[in-house]
Amino acid sequence: MLKECLVGAIEARFGPLKNPVLRVAAEGDAPSEALPQPLNAEPPRNFEEFIYRVWGAGVARHFAIPYNRKLWAVPLDQMETSWLGGRVPMPDLEEMIDGALQPVARPMGPNARFAYPLKGGFQAMMDGFLPLLECELACGAAVVSVSPSQRAVRLADGRRFSYDTLISTMPLPRLVAAMGSEAPPHVHEAAAALRHVSVRCINLGIARGNITDKHWIHYPEDTVFHPIFVQGNASPHCNPPGGFGLTCEITYSKYKALPCDGDALVERCIVDCVRVGIIRADDQVIVANQVDMPYAYVVYDHGRKAQVDAVRQWCEAAGILLAGRYSEWEYYNSDHAFVAGKRVAEKARLASVSVPSNQPVFPSAA
Ligand SMILES: Cc1cc2nc3c(=O)[nH]c(=O)nc-3n(C[C@H](O)[C@H](O)[C@H](O)COP(=O)(O)OP(=O)(O)OC[C@H]3O[C@@H](n4cnc5c(N)ncnc54)[C@H](O)[C@@H]3O)c2cc1C
Repeated sequence: MLKECLVGAIEARFGPLKNPVLRVAAEGDAPSEALPQPLNAEPPRNFEEFIYRVWGAGVARHFAIPYNRKLWAVPLDQMETSWLGGRVPMPDLEEMIDGALQPVARPMGPNARFAYPLKGGFQAMMDGFLPLLECELACGAAVVSVSPSQRAVRLADGRRFSYDTLISTMPLPRLVAAMGSEAPPHVHEAAAALRHVSVRCINLGIARGNITDKHWIHYPEDTVFHPIFVQGNASPHCNPPGGFGLTCEITYSKYKALPCDGDALVERCIVDCVRVGIIRADDQVIVANQVDMPYAYVVYDHGRKAQVDAVRQWCEAAGILLAGRYSEWEYYNSDHAFVAGKRVAEKARLASVSVPSNQPVFPSAA
């Protein structure tokens, strides 16, 4: 497999190793000019082409194609590549050869270093902001309708609030649906065409400490999950003494149904965890639960940018600013999401249409 991956990476750059088409060196050429030249200087037209061009046919076959098909659940040639920068390793040939010979000592890839709260889980990041809030915070308050004409939102419990500028973190299709007939047809069409993938997280607590030293493990095989986030290694305080936590992530969408649900899905994860060796058959699972994320990954298909632009432009004209992963329909990680919040707050303030900071976010319940 290693050889196939290396040969694929070399051939992706220089053409077939067997029967290479060598250019005859002309007089005065530098010696390197007689080497096979890169196959195609044009940028890849889609994600699938990117995989073959940058990583080569071996990595494509053994990892990138099966893994990404499982994750995205759409044909990979329907995806573009603008989201890739900084998210996936882009090793050069020398680094690939180094990595094939032995595990590389230096950090590789965007997640090689990451920060995580020592205590309190990821919630500790949010808790740090609470003392700084100069407004009322309403949790469990679902916005069910938005009226741009009246500059008002209505909650599921019937409360109604008016706004000057609305900052929305709702998933874009849900925001547009909440505006009903006040949003024009072209905005509804654009929002309805946006594609996304849902995730079911199966959290497992195992009665054995330190089951691996890894943080994320990605499985291209036929496991029900694609990655396992090794929660137990994010911080030692995530685990009880002698126990260890894992999160198995399973994507699903209207193109890829979950294979089963409820307890059967948990059982399937446990069986697959044993099959790939992350846990042992005799390991005791002391806790198991699942969390559903209906909007989890936005799909970067070729229409996404124009569709998002159409919705955003109309929303901004209607006094609604979009912020965050699902509202901007971007592949943000949490650090990007924090920055998006800061950026939108500055935008609202600059436009001088923001809610004054000494007033509650929901100023006038009616
Ligand atoms: C499976 C998975 C794994 C991830 N792993 C990582 C990781 O390891 N590291 C990392 O940095 N990032 C990770 N991310 C990404 C990270 O979770 C997001 O980037 C981040 O949560 C986005 O923040 P946000 O504020 O934009 O959206 P959200 O966190 O979704 O916040 C949006 C808020 O809007 C609220 N809301 C939505 N609709 C309504 C409504 N109708 N009424 C009222 N409120 C509403 C929601 O309740 C929520 O509180 C992961 C994401 C997924 C799906």
